[in-house]
Amino acid sequence: MPPLSRRDFLIQSGSCAAHLALAAAVMPTTARLRWARNSYGAVVAAEPFGNLEEVSEGVWALISTPLSGDRTTLSNGGIIAGRNAVLAIEGFNQPQGAVWLAGKARELTGRWPTHVALTHYHADHANGVAGYLSESQHPSVRATDRTRSLVLERNRPVDDARAAALHDAVILSPNDAAALDLGGRTVHIVPRSGHTESDISLELDDPSIVFCGDLFWNAMFPNFVDAIPTKLATSVRALRRTRDTIYVPGHGAIGKAAEYDRYVSMLDEVERAARQARSANISAADAGKDFHLSTTLGEWTMFSPVFFQRAFEAWYKELGAS
Ligand SMILES: [Zn+2]
Repeated sequence: MPPLSRRDFLIQSGSCAAHLALAAAVMPTTARLRWARNSYGAVVAAEPFGNLEEVSEGVWALISTPLSGDRTTLSNGGIIAGRNAVLAIEGFNQPQGAVWLAGKARELTGRWPTHVALTHYHADHANGVAGYLSESQHPSVRATDRTRSLVLERNRPVDDARAAALHDAVILSPNDAAALDLGGRTVHIVPRSGHTESDISLELDDPSIVFCGDLFWNAMFPNFVDAIPTKLATSVRALRRTRDTIYVPGHGAIGKAAEYDRYVSMLDEVERAARQARSANISAADAGKDFHLSTTLGEWTMFSPVFFQRAFEAWYKELGAS
């Protein structure tokens, strides 16, 4: 991946895209290759930007491989099909990403997506949403009001087609879960928070599958730029199911209980370290520089002190400045 220009970085520094670009710069090649290898689904389509994996009958996850340098999608997403309707999850980084996923939905299910859900406002999940709409296709876009506002206020470059796609969005309640009936299959759209001030998860009961958005990052240290860590801790526990479940993260490979629990333990370790550093009056920058995840948590290859610093800053914001 070519290094990001300073201008690019400034434009995108509020999103997970800049975080991923920085991560790619520090990640060894072997780790980049490993990114996409660990899979629980059969790959039905492979592209430079990601692999579409069938995780169950009528359910597919797009596992993006952004560290290859292709920025079409950047985030993960998915397709959930019922008898009468098809839900596409995420708008992706560029409209071409949404166009591609919609085309796959039609190939696999016979239908262009009838519904689209955005898990949160970050550019790599939302900026391409207009790709689902055309002269003949008008899927119903769903997002919380806060997510819609943040996309319109913060995401760059500004795009009229994106604004138009969101103008007609069906607004989700920030408090109550919604049930979307696709025909013989109900998707629970659950309002959550913690990665940003407004996140949603998309959940199926049978088979047990959770599209977590960026509340779950598998084997990659998450972006805390907008995080509210205590809410994040609550949300990740609420998403965890006791029965056998497939967790589709916002970034990284599909996970099951072992990968999910490793992520929760990692967040807990960050919390412990942040609380300790905060009570010892160590700055977030210094604490971030000195921090290392314990080896018992396995491999988290995205090490760069600035990511840790962001996590500490998010915690300090909640705990009060020293
Ligand atoms: Zn994000």
